[in-house]
Amino acid sequence: MMQWVMKRARFYREFQRLARSLRFRLALSYAIFFAILVVGVGFILRSMLASSLDREIRQVILEEWAAAKGYMHIENYRPDWRYDRADPEESLIVNKIRGGVYLLTDSHRTVLERSETYKGIPMSEADEVAATLKSKEPTWVIKRDTDGERYLLRQGVMVDSKYYQPYYMVIGKPLSDIEGTVATFTRNYLLVGLAAILTGGLLGWLMAGRALLPLNSVAQAAQEIKGSNLKVRIPLRGAGDELDRLISSFNDMTARLDSSFEQIRQFSTDVSHELRTPLTSIRGQMEVALFTAKTADEFRDAMGDALQDVEHLSNIVRALLQLSQAESGQLVLQLAPLDLAAVVEDIAEQFEIPAEDQKLKLETAIEHEGCTIKADRTQICRMITNLISNSVKYTPSGGRMRIEVRRQEDCVLFVVSDTGVGIAADHLPHIFDRFYRVRKMQTKSVQGLGLGLSFVAWIVQAHGGKVDVQSTEGKGTTFTVSLPAADAGPPEQDAPEQLGAASVT
Ligand code: ADP
Repeated sequence: MMQWVMKRARFYREFQRLARSLRFRLALSYAIFFAILVVGVGFILRSMLASSLDREIRQVILEEWAAAKGYMHIENYRPDWRYDRADPEESLIVNKIRGGVYLLTDSHRTVLERSETYKGIPMSEADEVAATLKSKEPTWVIKRDTDGERYLLRQGVMVDSKYYQPYYMVIGKPLSDIEGTVATFTRNYLLVGLAAILTGGLLGWLMAGRALLPLNSVAQAAQEIKGSNLKVRIPLRGAGDELDRLISSFNDMTARLDSSFEQIRQFSTDVSHELRTPLTSIRGQMEVALFTAKTADEFRDAMGDALQDVEHLSNIVRALLQLSQAESGQLVLQLAPLDLAAVVEDIAEQFEIPAEDQKLKLETAIEHEGCTIKADRTQICRMITNLISNSVKYTPSGGRMRIEVRRQEDCVLFVVSDTGVGIAADHLPHIFDRFYRVRKMQTKSVQGLGLGLSFVAWIVQAHGGKVDVQSTEGKGTTFTVSLPAADAGPPEQDAPEQLGAASVT
């Protein structure tokens, strides 16, 4: 008993699952659509058939009525059929009338002539006969005989040619033939219709299954996707339909996820790598302090070195924190009108001494007219400082640097160019990436964190601007930052990949 109940419950669950499936619902809608169509068409055909049969039978009765009027005369209160008895056609017509459904009475309902078939049909009421005789207009009625069979009857008036007395005449036909034909049609049509509905449903089921097959493969592929296999792509079917569009959106989404995951993975690797070097170094200093240092000076030296590394470590962490705050939108810009020319002039002045120390020739070409931008002063200063200090850092002694500010259409341009070591073409596309450094250092300067240009890219992007770099290895580099001028319209939203454009000359 228990088993039976469980079986039933499982069957019910399975059925519910099937009934909820898109395939089942599509097939069901096909079947319902077919059913409505079949039933509707059936009704129309059936009523067309019935009315055409009805027209036909009335036509036959009318013809017999006309023949009866032609061949039958009433004389001396008796019907007298006058026709050529030698003519088989006339005899046939008269016999057909008299042997069919036929009645002739006088105005008092006394039967003068009645066919065999009519004997089963009840006589008309006196007032019905009286009304017919009075109106003289023939009427159509349907009556049942004692067996319940239906007849279509035409009742009207015949007039005695001598005394002009009215007589009541009825000619009719059984409706059983028509009804039989309509019933047979209905039965056959229902059988064919039922088969059509079932075939429609089955075809719907098969077609829905075929149409939904790619959806299943999308679902299966989605199931297989994990963080580690974001390379999975669902093949397009080449039909260019909605499903293909869904598949290509799905593929695009996985590609985007893949690249985000890749960036995160790369970033984690870079961070661990960056942190490992100072940590190893601190560990070395600690070991020296613990195991080999004997005097207070040796001890202090080891501690001093460790402190420097800790300083480096906290610089990295601070910079990373700021960058992640900036990129996640937690860092809110304090926008205010800012004279870019004045700011650049100020910062360039601060670099005069370091440039001189390195025997660099620092040139400035700063236009003051129309160089106001809407910006966050702290961030803009940081961007300018980063670019100028890079130039100082990567230009060997005797080199030249040029700092420029000028208006160009709706933008204010800030250009830093140098005759430094330059950047090789294969490194150029990556220099805005976090922790990216060109390892082969040709200058004596200390290597930075590799985060400076990431900040530059973010700051420029946040201000609705663009940064462009052109470089030739061994000859020099030019960074061009273009920011929307304060008196121009609102900044256009550029796609992020345009922000850090790099090109080699
Ligand atoms: P870093 O802290 O190493 O300077 P950045 O993000 O500021 O990091 O720069 C990334 C890399 O781009 C640097 O390692 C350097 O190789 C290259 N670079 C940046 N500016 C210049 C420049 N003016 N000349 C040559 N190379 C440069």
